[in-house]
Amino acid sequence: MIVITKNSASEERIAEIVQHIEKAGVQAHVSRGTDRTVIGIIGKAEPALAEHLRSMKDVENVIKISKSYKLASRDFHPDDTVIEIKGVKIGGEHLAIMGGPCAVESPEQIDEIARLVKAAGGQVLRGGAFKPRTGPYSFQGIGVEGLKMMAEAGRKHGLLTITEVMTPEYVDICAEYADILQVGTRNMQNFDLLRKLGSVQTPVLLKRGFSATYDEFLNAAEYILAGGNPNVMLCERGIRTFETYTRNTLDLAAIPVLQSLSHLPVISDPSHGTGRRELVEPMAKASVAAGANGLIIEMHTDPDNSMTGDGVQSLFPDQFANLLKELEQLGKLVGKRYDTPKEPAEYFKTWKI
Ligand code: PEP
Ligand code: MN
Repeated sequence: MIVITKNSASEERIAEIVQHIEKAGVQAHVSRGTDRTVIGIIGKAEPALAEHLRSMKDVENVIKISKSYKLASRDFHPDDTVIEIKGVKIGGEHLAIMGGPCAVESPEQIDEIARLVKAAGGQVLRGGAFKPRTGPYSFQGIGVEGLKMMAEAGRKHGLLTITEVMTPEYVDICAEYADILQVGTRNMQNFDLLRKLGSVQTPVLLKRGFSATYDEFLNAAEYILAGGNPNVMLCERGIRTFETYTRNTLDLAAIPVLQSLSHLPVISDPSHGTGRRELVEPMAKASVAAGANGLIIEMHTDPDNSMTGDGVQSLFPDQFANLLKELEQLGKLVGKRYDTPKEPAEYFKTWKI
């Protein structure tokens, strides 16, 4: 259930309505939008509460919401969520570009790629230290050493960092070194992991499970939000279909659909979404045209020798740089802009690892 208050409702009035709701034994979540305030109610409310709220002064409307996810829904939070990390904004009109290798391989590799991501205009350095591999004998990532290498490269070049976390036990250490924690497609419904991520404030990029519906995806996000972490981004990374030419089928419709159902930023991953280098550029552009709030793209200086099999979908540095130039133009047409600080901001210079 949501309560929409009149524009004229004062802060005190909203606080009184919240108190009234909480007295009924349910939770109230206030979302102050540009033109209205919405109070979302979570918990089993008696019908009499709705009736009473409807009759209260300054209440415009009370609407029953039947969706199973609440905090992730746009009904509860009409305005776009914009997540600000060390001065970089993700969500709304900001176009966030995350680039880097599938896996952190060495200090030299991640440092050089970080330099190239920054030079191209990206804001976030991606790289996995813990890799969820289909086979147990494949390279599994270099672990905590990789986290440290990436943090150092990010700090040096003035980039935020994003890395995948696979188990609840590793959330704290990954959050110590990275600015954004990625939940991979295979873990979208790892509920213990989601609960743990709800207990921290580090922003989370939640990838869509490769066979998850939008409803399941948004419920997975709800776990994190319900735990108390409001900083969640959704990532469309392709789903499994009958097609085998591409590694996955990037579901472009997911971008506007998720943005209509939810206020959370939607990031597109054309690398895993296609699995083919030549398709990354057109699908990155299509994602921005469809309204994506950002992209996460694999880029490698030596893709043929990448330690995971993802070299085949990794852009070469010059392709990455050219794509970003074109995306800047395209972004303008759809009301999205980069705001990459040209110089590393003060907090990067002083940031201690
Ligand atoms: C990755 O980003 O390298 C990755 C493993 O992604 P996904 O979980 O989408 O397969
Ligand atoms: Mn990868």
